[in-house]
Order: sequence, then structure tokens, then C-alpha cells
Amino acid sequence: MNIMMISAEMAPFAKVGGLADVVTALSAALAARKHDVRVVIPLYGHLDRDREKIRPLGKLPPLTLRVGQQMQDLRFHMRGSPRSRVKVYLVECQALYGTEGVYSDEKGEAFPDALARAAMHGQAALLLARLLDWPVDVIHAHDAEAIPAILFRRHWYAGRGVPGPAGSLLTIHNMAHQAIHPTAGIDTLGLPRSMASYPGLLEFHGELNLMKAGILAADRVNTVSPAYAKETTADPDFGCGMEETLTGRGESYSGILNGADYDTWDPRRDKALPAPFGPADLSGKDVCRKELMKELGLKPEDGKPLCGFVGRLVHQKGLDLVLPLLGRLAEDGFTFAILGTGDKKLEAAARKAAARHPDKVAFVGTFDEDLAHRIYAGSDLFLMPSLFEPCGLSQMYSLRYGTLPVVRRTGGLADTIIDAGRKNGNGFVFDEATGEDLMATLRRAEALWEDPKAWREVQDRGMKCDFSWGRSAARYEKLYRAARRAGKGT
Ligand code: ADP
Repeated sequence: MNIMMISAEMAPFAKVGGLADVVTALSAALAARKHDVRVVIPLYGHLDRDREKIRPLGKLPPLTLRVGQQMQDLRFHMRGSPRSRVKVYLVECQALYGTEGVYSDEKGEAFPDALARAAMHGQAALLLARLLDWPVDVIHAHDAEAIPAILFRRHWYAGRGVPGPAGSLLTIHNMAHQAIHPTAGIDTLGLPRSMASYPGLLEFHGELNLMKAGILAADRVNTVSPAYAKETTADPDFGCGMEETLTGRGESYSGILNGADYDTWDPRRDKALPAPFGPADLSGKDVCRKELMKELGLKPEDGKPLCGFVGRLVHQKGLDLVLPLLGRLAEDGFTFAILGTGDKKLEAAARKAAARHPDKVAFVGTFDEDLAHRIYAGSDLFLMPSLFEPCGLSQMYSLRYGTLPVVRRTGGLADTIIDAGRKNGNGFVFDEATGEDLMATLRRAEALWEDPKAWREVQDRGMKCDFSWGRSAARYEKLYRAARRAGKGT
């Protein structure tokens, strides 16, 4: 099949969270299954064109597209060679993507022209298919930012323009980010104003909601774990107002668990680590642990676990459950390696905790891919007390690196982690989003830590867990076939 992926993120070019890893790994898994996969992402200002081998797409002239009231110049680029298994196309539009940042500027402020950025991305992707005369079987849109492509395909290009049936699949990576804008934004999208007022596709409580429109307009919709699919239809805390819209899609809405890319995330050949290791020999993990402590200025404490946290510093990730416990746990000899950026208040709180316990708590407030790898490798426990978690990749990476995840039973965490107290346990699971429940769970982890043989058994099971992409890629193929059939009908 000819699959066009549309995403704001793709590792390693533009990564904010798990979406970037998913787009790269899923595309590779599909290409390995002989599909022609082409990914379209914006050419962000931070990208180093020489280093990333990004070249203008020679055949195509510079172009101009209308976005709202503005005419915007754009140019297509390509990463790699035309023979690359996954082809990456980048949309250059200096006025919209010329600065640094994917969704927000360096101060963390969301871009005010987010809708124009998304509108350009969607238009450019469809135009590209036409210019390349590439018959698209499926448009695979990732998250709200990519939804305009689905809407434009339906509205402007219905039955013409885009070669091929171009059925559409929307994958929701996080329901909390719906791309809600004032209704005037409809002009930026260039769609009829009636679509922004009740009962129009985009109307949502007097505003414009891309996610809602995408759920209604896509031929198939999925999210990234079976548990999150259920949660989002059943509970407003998870569905964020989309419960009924999702329920209305019936069998057309489903959950497919993300996979981990074990080519990138393999402690046996991870170049970011000071020493390799694998399930047969964990001595390299001890080296990683010692070096991580040294790197972060932590004082080794005999006999207590080192807890890692890597993630976006947002309420969702539950770091605010962890921070109040740090003092007590640090006094008991636990150590903490925390890496993350995001909410300025959470960053300040983490920085304060690190200043108060400099030997026991380290906080690094940057985005650092290599350090993230070293934290997964050097830690004993990985903390993921998320309030909700569509899938989560970090717990899968931790398992592979022999680090026991401590997770809340929600979404993809519930689908991947089994408590050590149960058969086939690979980590620690708790239910209530409270400091007490998390503390009790860490105490259970501490008790298991006292029994190295039992700890090693759980670690071993975790390292052998297989969350590779093969099975999930086959499930996506099934959805693509259904979307293509639906696309043929339009
Ligand atoms: P989400 O998609 O909600 O952010 P996931 O667990 O699916 O959560 O994926 C998060 C990904 O982002 C992981 O690969 C994690 O290592 C990475 N990550 C998050 N914050 C940072 C950071 N500050 N530095 C390096 N990697 C990070």
C-alpha cells in the first residue's frame, strides 16, 4: 500500500514526546513489510539541513499556497535518497516553520499561529501527492495537528485532486490535545464558515475543535492502547468531552498498542551507554548505574534503589505525586535522577528538591536524548505515576534496560505492566493517584530490592518482554485496508 504519514513529530528530526518515536518506528516496520511509506513533516528552523542530509526536492519548483488571508511560499525537501525505505518529505515555509520549536517557542508559549501551521502542513501534504503523481491508498494523520489533511481531502479534493483512493486513518496519541481555537480560525483553514457553527463538523461548544472534526471525518480512528480506547469512550476525565463522539464511531474506533523500536532501544548496542549489557550479563548495568551517579553528582548509597524519571513535565505525568515524597525517601537512602522539560512551576519544584538534597536528587531541565538512555540504563526503578497514559513508551524502554517500572494502572501502562506480586510480574502497579499509594508501592519495591534473587527474576521477565512493532504493524495494515475501502467509496 502507499501510505502517507502526516505528523508534526518524527524522531530524530523533531521530538517532543512518544509520537516522534512512534512515527519513525511504525513507518520502518511498515516499510519492512513492503509498503511504500512517505512521511510529511514541517521543516523546522532548528533542523541542520547539512547534518540531516536534507535536500530540496529538485523536480518541484517553489510554490505558493493560500493559508487564510496570506499567500505563503513553500518548497519541498527530502531527507535521504529516493531509494530510502521510508521517504521523509519536509515542507519549508519560513514564515510559519522558520523558528525553533514544534508546538511552542523556547519560553514554552504555544505558537499563536498553530492553526495556520497545521493548515499549511495538511495542504502541502495533499499537494505533494498530486505533484508526485503518487496514488495514496491511505492518509495516516497523527494527532490533531495533522487533521486538516483529512478535512481538506474530504472537502476540496473529494473524488479528485489526490491520486488514489486516499482513505484516512486518524491516530489519537493524546486526547488532552484537541487543538481548540476560536471559530474565526475557520478562515485560516479556508473551509466554509458553516462548518464552524452548529451543527458543523468543527463546532464544539462555540469553538472550533480539530480533534472532534477528525474523529467524525476520518474513515477509521484509533488510539494507542486498548485500555485508553475504553477509557476515552467511558470517562470524561479521559475522553475530555469526546466520549460520545468516539462512541458514535462504534467499531471504527479501536486501540492498538504502540511498539518499542528495539534497534534504537537495545542496551546491548546502545552507543549512549558507558557499557553494554543484556539479560545474560548485567554487569554492564552496574557500570551504567555508577557512571550515572557520577555524571549527576549523586552520592552512591548502598542498598537502596536509584529511581529514574524521564518525561515531559506536565500534570499528566504525575511528577507532582513524586516531589513531596522525595525528602523522606532521600533520607532513607533512595536516589533520584529526573530529566524533563515543560511546565515552569514543575521545573522549579524539581530544581528546588534537587537543591535541598544535592547528594540524593538530581534534576536536569533539558531535552537530552543520550542522557535519557543513560537514565533508563542506570536506574533500578523507573517512575511513571501518570494520571492518564495513552500508551507510554518509557515503561517499555525501562523494561528492556532491566529497570523495573513503577506505574499507575491506566491506559497503556495497564496494558503492559504486571505487578511483581502477581504471576509474570514485570514491575509495580498502583491504583490511586495519591502520594500514599505511590509511597506504599515504593516500599514494596524496596522490600523486593532486599531480595536480589527475586528482583533479578522480575528484571529478567521484563527484559524478555517483547513489545516490538511487528504485531501492531499488522493491526495497522488491517485498519489501512478498511480505510482504503472506505476511501474508494467517497
Ligand atoms: P509522551 O508521548 O506522553 O511524552 P511516552 O512515554 O510515550 O510519553 O514517550 C516519551 C518519549 O520522550 C520517551 O522516548 C522519552 O524518553 C522522551 N523524553 C521525554 N522528555 C525527555 C527529555 N527531557 N529528554 C529526553 N527524552 C525525553
